[in-house]
Amino acid sequence: MFLDRDGTLIYDVGYPRDPRQVQLLPGAGQALKKLKEQGFLLVLVSNQSGIGRGLVTAEQAEQVHQEFLSQLERYGVQLDAVYYCPHAPGEQNRCRKPSPAMLLQAAKELDLDLTRSFMVGDKASDVEAGKRAGCQTVLLSTKPVLDELDPMPDEVAGSWPEVVQCILGRSGARG
Ligand SMILES: [Mg+2]
Ligand SMILES: [Zn+2]
Repeated sequence: MFLDRDGTLIYDVGYPRDPRQVQLLPGAGQALKKLKEQGFLLVLVSNQSGIGRGLVTAEQAEQVHQEFLSQLERYGVQLDAVYYCPHAPGEQNRCRKPSPAMLLQAAKELDLDLTRSFMVGDKASDVEAGKRAGCQTVLLSTKPVLDELDPMPDEVAGSWPEVVQCILGRSGARG
């Protein structure tokens, strides 16, 4: 499964550059542990345009990343692969979501079946990237969704336990 980071696994503080800004969202660690036990590979696909915008140095981004990994580690969770897009919007690049490029690259490198894969994220760009890659999509929205969604995710979940429920329900139904 593909995972967005900011706003999905950790609180979205906007261009995080200090490890002290890293805090997992409630239930995220337990959920990933459970999904991993069910055999899902955990693949992070994250836009980090703060780097391309000159707001975050590569070193700061690395420190934030290491803190993120060590918080997951407390739940016994290790990611299987990590893809960051450092580019700012408008920069020449193919990887920034809503492009599916990071997902397609991961599928190639890890030999994933995209139709059986899920993309979990908190933004329309995550849903779009997932759909364009041919995945099933789950929008994690801790606030009620009032507007019409575009593109429409396959599932909307209000919390990590709900995400787990959606994914296990859908993958169970597929045999
Ligand atoms: Mg996000
Ligand atoms: Zn990029």
